[in-house]
Amino acid sequence: MRPRKMIHLKSPQEIEIIARGGAVIGALFQELAPRAVPGVSTRQLDEFCEEFIRSHDGAVPAFQGLYGFPGAVCISMNEEIVHGIPRDDRVLDEGDIVSVDVGVKLDGWCSDSAWTFAVGEVDHRTRSLLDVTEAALDAAVEAARVGGHVGDIGAAVMTAVGDHAMGIVRDLVGHGIGREVHEEPQVPNVGRVGYGPLLREGMVLAIEPMLSLGSDQIQTLDDGWTVVTADRSRSAHFEHTVALTSDGPRILTGAPTGAGSETNR
Ligand code: MG
Ligand code: MG
Repeated sequence: MRPRKMIHLKSPQEIEIIARGGAVIGALFQELAPRAVPGVSTRQLDEFCEEFIRSHDGAVPAFQGLYGFPGAVCISMNEEIVHGIPRDDRVLDEGDIVSVDVGVKLDGWCSDSAWTFAVGEVDHRTRSLLDVTEAALDAAVEAARVGGHVGDIGAAVMTAVGDHAMGIVRDLVGHGIGREVHEEPQVPNVGRVGYGPLLREGMVLAIEPMLSLGSDQIQTLDDGWTVVTADRSRSAHFEHTVALTSDGPRILTGAPTGAGSETNR
């Protein structure tokens, strides 16, 4: 039996396996960007994700069946923060935002990444929400350095949000990741520099700021899964799996870059 609070450090070889799974997610997001368009259902996106993941040798969707989750990936729109269940009757419309949260298990090791896509043209505030949340992720990753503390990561999110009038979701947190999707330590999106568990070489963390255009309070819908903002304001979610190395943080889940990201993010 493992002690409940044990933090599992990963070897360089193990980190390479996680990076291979992470690359599948990065490539998937590249493919998803041009597919997140009006008229597409979240079920269709889920089917595309599952097929894409399974087309890679040894890779399976890590969230499928995890705690009983019914989809291959989590797809959450607008006021939904996380854990949205893919549905035939949830259809993307112009101006929506859609967060796709993907876990891949490859050769027994997990990676986890989320991206929020704009569907067509979004309004100015929504655009700002996406930009600030992505910048918060970048800052949080940059703060994840060997010798620092977990609180440095949340503090970086808070600084990135600054005086933008946005809520930082506190009741959902990032996490260690490895053999299991969710491992120790928890990685909150708020924190104080120098507080929390020590950041050590070989830690692999899923860092995942979730911001809203209003309340930082959350509710779970009657489906038992979908988490929404309490005031139904829009929410964005960006996540990377990051390895802590002596050379600094290494992102293992590639971001969508190039045309997809620029035109459709
Ligand atoms: Mg995730
Ligand atoms: Mg996660």
